[in-house]
Amino acid sequence: MKTLTVSVVTPDGPVLEDRFEMVSCRAENGELGILPGHIPLVAPLTISSVRLKRENNTEQLAVNGGFLEVRPDKVTILAQTAEKPSEIDVQRAKEAKERAQRRLQSKQDDIDFKRAELALKRAINRLDVSH
Ligand code: ATP
Repeated sequence: MKTLTVSVVTPDGPVLEDRFEMVSCRAENGELGILPGHIPLVAPLTISSVRLKRENNTEQLAVNGGFLEVRPDKVTILAQTAEKPSEIDVQRAKEAKERAQRRLQSKQDDIDFKRAELALKRAINRLDVSH
């Protein structure tokens, strides 16, 4: 099978660079499946998981915010955060989820709902990717 280079970078530095057969991810306008030779594109990513497939294994990353740049032989993911399943602190994500849910349920006027909603999405995404 043909492969393409995948590079994942966050403000903290490079997370991963390796060759894979296929990249699946969720851009803001829908699911994308990228194989070598894909037409060039740039797309904003959602808070979601990126799946990196090889013949006999698949790696997964929890990403939050960022862009995907596709060229025929390379995919670059530039994200605010990107964690491998083994790097995810499940307890921290559970606490973040509960905190966000409490904020969303409270009737206080000074709650930034959009911010709480995004925090909830990040926490749920991390919990999904962690197992
Ligand atoms: P929290 O409220 O727990 O800080 P958050 O969603 O607000 O969660 P982010 O702003 O997305 O956190 O991330 C800040 C930094 O902490 C990033 O480097 C991110 O990779 C890391 N991080 C956040 N949550 C986790 C987690 N559950 N496990 C491992 N790393 C995490």
